[in-house]
Formats: sequence, C-alpha cells, structure tokens
Amino acid sequence: MTKVRIAIVGGGLGGLAAALFLRRAGLEAIVYEQATQLREVGAGIVVAPNMVRLLDALGLADRLSSSAVRLEGAWEFRRWQDGRVLFAQLMGEECVRLYGTHCYVAHRADLLKLLLQALPDDAIRLDHCCVEVRQNENEAELTFATRTGRKTKVTADVVIGADGIHSVIRPAVAAEVDSRFSGMCAFRCLVPAEDAPEMALRPVHTVWFGPGRHLVQYPISGGRLINVVAIVPAGDWRTESWTTDGEIPDLIKEFEGWDPRLHQLLNSARSTKRWALYDRYPLERWIAGRIALLGDAAHAMLPFLGQGAAQAFEDAFVLAECLKNADRNSLSHALQRYEAIRQPRANQIQVASRGREVRYHLDDGPEQQERDSRFAGGDPLRESAWLYGHDLQADLRSGVD
Ligand SMILES: Cc1cc2nc3c(=O)[nH]c(=O)nc-3n(C[C@H](O)[C@H](O)[C@H](O)COP(=O)(O)OP(=O)(O)OC[C@H]3O[C@@H](n4cnc5c(N)ncnc54)[C@H](O)[C@@H]3O)c2cc1C
Repeated sequence: MTKVRIAIVGGGLGGLAAALFLRRAGLEAIVYEQATQLREVGAGIVVAPNMVRLLDALGLADRLSSSAVRLEGAWEFRRWQDGRVLFAQLMGEECVRLYGTHCYVAHRADLLKLLLQALPDDAIRLDHCCVEVRQNENEAELTFATRTGRKTKVTADVVIGADGIHSVIRPAVAAEVDSRFSGMCAFRCLVPAEDAPEMALRPVHTVWFGPGRHLVQYPISGGRLINVVAIVPAGDWRTESWTTDGEIPDLIKEFEGWDPRLHQLLNSARSTKRWALYDRYPLERWIAGRIALLGDAAHAMLPFLGQGAAQAFEDAFVLAECLKNADRNSLSHALQRYEAIRQPRANQIQVASRGREVRYHLDDGPEQQERDSRFAGGDPLRESAWLYGHDLQADLRSGVD
C-alpha cells in the first residue's frame, strides 16, 4: 500500500508536534515553513501537565526536565499594591498525584529545539511560504513561494494547516472570520536571574493581579532567566509581532504604585517585546475534504489559561491517531473524526480563556474582593482537572467512527 502523504504548513510548536506524532504513527509527514530558520521568540511558556504527558508519549519528557524548570513550589496569586499572597497552591508532588506528571515552565526556544532534534532533517522544508491551496477528488496541491520569488508546487493526500492565527489555509476550510482585538497587549521580557529580586528566583509561577492589568513571572532555563509577561491595556498599540520592541519605561509606567519588588524586577529588564493580543471566535469547521486545521490556525485563544500550545499538542496526538490506519479512501472520514473529537474541547478552552479577561482585571471593589476571597478558599489545581486531567484516549474511544 502506498503511504499517505501529509503536508503540514507551518513549523511552529503545533506543526512540529503534528509531524512527530504522525511519523510515530508510521505516516509520511513533511513540514513546510515560510521562515528560512526555525526559531521561537525569546520568552517563556507554561508546559501544562496535559502537554507534558504528550511529550512523554513522544519520549521527550526527560529531556524537557533537563532544560525547563519544574514547578516545585507553588502557583501563587499576589495582590498588586503590597504583594500580599492571596493564594498559594502547592504544585510538585500534588500535581504528579493528580495528573501523573509535574508542570514545567520552559524557554520557548528550548522547547522548539527539543521537537526539532527529534525530527529527521528531511521532515522539514524551510523557505516555503504557502500562497495557495487547492484540492480535488484525488489530491491536494500547495503552491509555495521562496524568498527569491521562485514558486514550487507540492501535491499531498492530506494538508494540515498549522500556520498560526493568520492561517492562509483556513479560508479553504472555514468562512473567514476576522481576528478579534482584545484591547490588551503583552509586554514580555527575560530578566537575568542575578539582577532579579530574591522572590522571583523560586520555582514558582506567580500571577500579580491589579486594576486593569496582570503580570505573570516565573524562572526558566534552569533558573538562569526570569520570564515576565505583563498584560496591560493596549492603547493605540495594534502590532502583533513577537519581534517588535517595546519600551521599558512604558512597561514600568503601567505598574506605577505596585509592589516595590515588582519594580525591582521590571527595572532589571534590559529589553522588552510588545505584542497586541488577538483571538478568534470558534470556527464552525476545521476540515474540508482532505484539508484540516490544527493549533492556532484552528483555535487562536487568549493566553490566560496557558493552553494554546497544549491544545495544539492534543490536536496533533488525536490527528495522528485518527489517520494512522486510514488509507486513501478513508482519509476524509478520518479527518471528520479528528474534527468531531477535538473541536468541542478546544472551543471550550478558547471561550474560557476569553472569559478570564474580565476576571483578571477587576478594579478594586466588591467584585475584586469576592474574586480574591474565592482564590483564598479555592483549589485551582484540582479545579483545573478539566484542563490538565483530560483523557484523550477516552475521547478516541468514544469519538465517532
Ligand atoms: C503572551 C502569550 C503567552 C502564551 N503562553 C502560553 C503558555 O504558557 N502555554 C501554552 O500552551 N500556550 C501559550 N500561548 C499560546 C501559544 O504560544 C500558541 O498557541 C502556540 O504557539 C501556537 O502554535 P502554532 O504552531 O499553532 O502556531 P504558531 O506558533 O503561530 O506557528 C505557526 C507557524 O506557521 C508559519 N507560517 C505562517 N504562515 C505560513 C505560510 N503561509 N507558509 C508556511 N509557513 C507559515 C509561521 O512562520 C510559524 O512558524 C501563549 C501565547 C501568547 C500570545
């Protein structure tokens, strides 16, 4: 039987995860990436337990633990003015007990490298910017442009659009819906540990809550760097590019009056990137014929649950499971099964992420007090069972045939 040929457009975390799972299932998957070099932004990422389990399935969890920081201490919520701890959730062994694994915080570049090194060189074609996709009853055809303007065509049995929030594949699948500007932007910086306040060095994921904004900090890269993400009102800022610089004084101004330790952290930052935050409304379709979407192309979400990449990994795992026994005649059915299994869960998380927008940014007052006392009496790790403990094998067993 000739192998099913799968073309993945986009070599981000989602596209690489898809290539790994598909190849592990014995399928021929090639990634086509527009960039001439694969790289991730200089920033951190929470590798939630549901994503760690999938890295483990790929045999990569041990290597993750050697570069990432294991959240041993706590998941800490603090108040803006005085840094008062509103709530500290123990992670470490409690996380293992509940979800079978630790939770990690990693440098994105380390994570990307981990995936890349697990793929053979011939699995990735760089400098391939997809400009068109077509399909007929027999196959799909992709047109790519190189930096020099040369065009090439590739045919495949299945096309996976893993090309991010501004996907060029998406219009072939779903009626185009504009991305939604959240009104917020993210400042991101990496602070060298030797310059950071003591409080920031602990293996703890800290979220600071204050009126109209919040800030997340945690150590990455074996503790050598502190990752800072500050979500603030965007004002006129609309640029959505990880490579666009912001100004440190603008970032510091956003946190006037906040705890001095937070200022010590921000003052130690040497540079910052600034990125306007967009998401999308859930799409009606993720597949059309032999074309399917995955990751941010399918479900771009706000980062407030730290699940965008984790959901791309879940897509990749389920997609490979659905395709692994498919032949050319049953491909479309296999993709329908993928969509039926994955769409409800990813959509739910996309909508829930947006819901956090208001809750995280309450002005001081009765609603904020009610939120903070809920934190104090809550158990966020257990309450995250629907995210971290989700059973994809059960989804596959109960998914439509
Ligand atoms: C501030 C912030 C914090 C976040 N924190 C977390 C977190 O803690 N945990 C978590 O799980 N998620 C987090 N996320 C979400 C996560 O970063 C994304 O969901 C994830 O990176 C999406 O991966 P992707 O591969 O689907 O898309 P992308 O990373 O966007 O990759 C798309 C790839 O496709 C390529 N491409 C685009 N167009 C073309 C084309 N025409 N032809 C060829 N290639 C193309 C691009 O160059 C890129 O390499 C966060 C997001 C933000 C904004």
